[in-house]
Amino acid sequence: MGLRDRGLEIKTPEQVAVMRRAGLVVGRTLALLTDSVRPGMTTGDLDAIAEEHILDSGATSNFKGYHGFPGVICTSVNDEVVHGIPGDRVLLDGDVVSIDCGAVVDGWHGDAAVTLAIGEVPAEVTRLMETTEASLWAGLAAARLGGRVTDIGHAVETHVDHRAEVDGAVYGVLEDYVGHGIGTAMHMPPNVPNYGKPGRGPRLVQGLVLAVEPMVTAGGIDCRTLEDDWTVVTEDGSWAAHFEHTFTLTPDGAWVLTALDGGRARLEALGVPYGGPRD
Ligand code: MG
Ligand code: MG
Repeated sequence: MGLRDRGLEIKTPEQVAVMRRAGLVVGRTLALLTDSVRPGMTTGDLDAIAEEHILDSGATSNFKGYHGFPGVICTSVNDEVVHGIPGDRVLLDGDVVSIDCGAVVDGWHGDAAVTLAIGEVPAEVTRLMETTEASLWAGLAAARLGGRVTDIGHAVETHVDHRAEVDGAVYGVLEDYVGHGIGTAMHMPPNVPNYGKPGRGPRLVQGLVLAVEPMVTAGGIDCRTLEDDWTVVTEDGSWAAHFEHTFTLTPDGAWVLTALDGGRARLEALGVPYGGPRD
């Protein structure tokens, strides 16, 4: 059975180049929000900044109107894990906010997320954020042409488990929400779980583009959705972090389409070849 028979969208190098443009819009929007966020701002303020930047970049939002979602970003605060709706919630010193953002350029999608500290947060919250972000990069670094999709999630989970031991912390890797294929739609096959055994699932081939997005709590992995039908919160009230990148594999290595430098610095620090352009 061929890859296309399994419903995987395999892109040409030219199509990946357009996805890089969409990824850069997303990456630059998240960088702008990272620079802009201050205690006292509302999550709606962040949404307005993001919307203006996405439109000014000649892109459109893939979040706004997605199953009726009202924002161009998701803003999930503290014990909110994902899918928080931007609005009049004021961000306070000591909060964390996870911002998930997407954009479309010429019909091709990008998707990425970061968790940001508002002012000063406790050291254990910083460790949760660093662990989650590093687990994302561990997952990206584990991806090889000829490998399998679950190699990524295995590396994510292994990294989080290792940090829990080192930090003497309890971390939970969500299983109800997973990463995904991306291309002419934001959410496409295959699922990219953040846990489990390696060596399973579709083969990683050139032209496959995936969004990897570990969601990690400082507690358990049980979640529920609030009455707004969107916001996912932890059942035990533990705080959560969420980092995401859209990436692909070239014959040279990994290319992180939503990272401003294509992922070069973080991949090379992990001893993994960078697969994007070098200009
Ligand atoms: Mg996302
Ligand atoms: Mg995603």
